[in-house]
Amino acid sequence: MPAGTLFIPGGSTYTSMDVDDHAEELASTLGVDKAEVKSDLENLVEYSVPVDEAKQSIRRKYGSDADDGAMPSTKDVDAVEVSDGNVTVTVRVITVGCRTIQYQGDEQVIREGILADETGTISYTAWQDFGFEPGDSVTIGNAGVREWDGQPELNIGQSSTVAVETDSVSVAEHDLPCSIGGHTSLLELRPGNRGRVVDVEVVEIEERVINGRDGQTTIHSGVIADESGRLPFTDWEARSTLSSGETFRFDDVYIREFRGAPQVNLSTFTTVEPLSKSIAINKDAQRVAIGEAVDSGGVFDVEVTGTVLEVREGSGLIERCPECNRALQGGQCREHGTVEGEDDMRVKAIVDDGTGAVTAILDRELTESVYGGSMDEAMTVARDAMDKSVIAEEIRSRIVGREYRIRGNLSVDEYGANLEATEFDRTDDDPATRAQSVLEEVTSWVLLRIVVKLHIDSSQLNLRMRHYHTQQVTMNGRQSMWWHQLVGELIDCLLLGH
Ligand SMILES: [Zn+2]
Repeated sequence: MPAGTLFIPGGSTYTSMDVDDHAEELASTLGVDKAEVKSDLENLVEYSVPVDEAKQSIRRKYGSDADDGAMPSTKDVDAVEVSDGNVTVTVRVITVGCRTIQYQGDEQVIREGILADETGTISYTAWQDFGFEPGDSVTIGNAGVREWDGQPELNIGQSSTVAVETDSVSVAEHDLPCSIGGHTSLLELRPGNRGRVVDVEVVEIEERVINGRDGQTTIHSGVIADESGRLPFTDWEARSTLSSGETFRFDDVYIREFRGAPQVNLSTFTTVEPLSKSIAINKDAQRVAIGEAVDSGGVFDVEVTGTVLEVREGSGLIERCPECNRALQGGQCREHGTVEGEDDMRVKAIVDDGTGAVTAILDRELTESVYGGSMDEAMTVARDAMDKSVIAEEIRSRIVGREYRIRGNLSVDEYGANLEATEFDRTDDDPATRAQSVLEEVTSWVLLRIVVKLHIDSSQLNLRMRHYHTQQVTMNGRQSMWWHQLVGELIDCLLLGH
């Protein structure tokens, strides 16, 4: 038991104690004679002074810090507010996650997780080991309240007390973000979660060497899956026991955000136990609308369906920096300057489904597949044409205006939303036919109006194009694509005519 901890097995609130108990407690904490304290206390209580106030007066009389040991108010969890200085709560421990922090130059183990009662849940940080475990019912006295991420959080430190309750505290289990103990499905994990338990199959695993604070460190990273979905993971301890195709229970993992999506992290405190059961892992990606996925900030392993509106610059045959793998621009790496580039192939395609747009990024393998030939073949074609851009042009003519089902990892950064594709397949229905039917619906007067508008105000061509673009996107992705092309062709006509 660390110093400064008052642990009262089976104890409940102080008000149920009698004057003798209170006197004993005061005498021992103040280091004074019990009889003297008891007489003071009895006097005050006789004058109808509430016992908590009476105790505080006595502490003041004997020169103890007035706040030290002052009884904070007892609250339901959902009534705890950031403005509360300190509180007492009677709760069930839902999760306990351990973490090492640097405190005044020393490494210190802290515990974090969730507490709950019938009214709600609250997160906590315990700065020392109070010995409580998931499932325990406890009364936490004098817990500090601080704000974390806009919510109140309990700070359980040296001046706090933790007393085990013999009666189990009931909680609204269906409102909990995980089971009592921390079991959570991968789909329900959120960045910031701590002390969680997952039963998973390791789907992919690789060894990586990273440059950490203490020099080079070997870690393991990969993908895990359960019945609900898949997530990336990192094992900072590079345990040799993990291998792909095997199932494990990871107890005490923490979740961080990686490219907008949750990432499961195994620390030195995580226990890894092989499972004898197999897990029916979900092999399908989550199907979502592009707008929704972009709004969420990122999704690992997602499937969208949309129309390719455009093939962006930097597609087709490209060169990469041998140092950092960045695509070169004009033979230059942004970080390493002039380098001998390595050939590669990729596609950056803008895909729209009517709710939003992403840039789908196809690796060499997928690019070869949409191009319909190997990179060597593409290099030969480019050499013969003495122009690399013919490859991007060929890809453009094959995929723009067509609908694709795309699976991959979606992330959002300051430049927009990217979808790193792992699958890129034509959908069954033929959008060319649909585009044709849209064309037939367009009446001649609409066409005429566009021509007249562009002709009158050619200085604002770009603005107007964007206007038509967004207006149509909200209606239908395919129509938008078609309008975009049509307006482009009209502009070409107009400009040539001038
Ligand atoms: Zn570089």
